[in-house]
Amino acid sequence: TVEIANLSKNFASIPVFEGLDLSISSGEFVCLVGGSGSGKSTLLNIVAGLDHADGGTVLAPPAAVMFQESALLPWLSAAGNISLALKFAGVPRQDRQQRTQELLNLVRLPDAGYRLVHQLSGGMQQRVALARALAQNRSLLLMDEPFSALDSITRDFLHDELEDIWRATGRTIVLVTHNVREAIRLGQRVILLASDQGSIAGEWRVSDTQRHDAVAGAALAETIRT
Ligand code: ATP
Ligand code: MG
Repeated sequence: TVEIANLSKNFASIPVFEGLDLSISSGEFVCLVGGSGSGKSTLLNIVAGLDHADGGTVLAPPAAVMFQESALLPWLSAAGNISLALKFAGVPRQDRQQRTQELLNLVRLPDAGYRLVHQLSGGMQQRVALARALAQNRSLLLMDEPFSALDSITRDFLHDELEDIWRATGRTIVLVTHNVREAIRLGQRVILLASDQGSIAGEWRVSDTQRHDAVAGAALAETIRT
């Protein structure tokens, strides 16, 4: 569970959040949407413990974080990046190779382990980054626009994959996106942050029909945008 109460945050005395409340249940998949500068990344960073709040309380378990850029270590192979995360997660050396291969299989890159980061396409790098985030074995996964830089085919593929992983592992996922359709595709709940409001501007539960039916999804997207 994530519990945020009365959160305030300023940058150089300009408020980003004033009295923001948000709770996220264990196992929930929540998408945060909002325009550029509305505070999505700031909120995610505070939940991740990478930035501090100026007021209020934030309770969250240790999280695995995935950014828009894959942020893989370029001098390591795909497998090396995953294996290092396993090491930090306390997985014993003798188990790491097998576990790394399992994670590569999970993101459907079974044969790419030996490749260096620059030998992978952008979509492949994001999949390795996802495998690395999963290697950290945290119950909370925070993702900041993880798929924005990808083409739509790779993105659709990763949406399906992430949904499968979420269903299979029961993790809590908070995903930031500026793409409302993506939020509806993935989230059980979509939360809108609006610039200059300092708080949550609206939230919507997503039904299976809205998720899978293009017309119903478009109607909900329209509601969220207006
Ligand atoms: P985007 O969709 O462009 O990624 P965002 O919703 O993630 O936007 P944030 O990066 O959280 O927005 O920024 C929220 C506000 O806080 C913006 O007004 C931004 O200028 C400000 N801000 C963010 N980080 C800093 C910083 N390190 N120093 C000063 N101001 C900052
Ligand atoms: Mg951002």
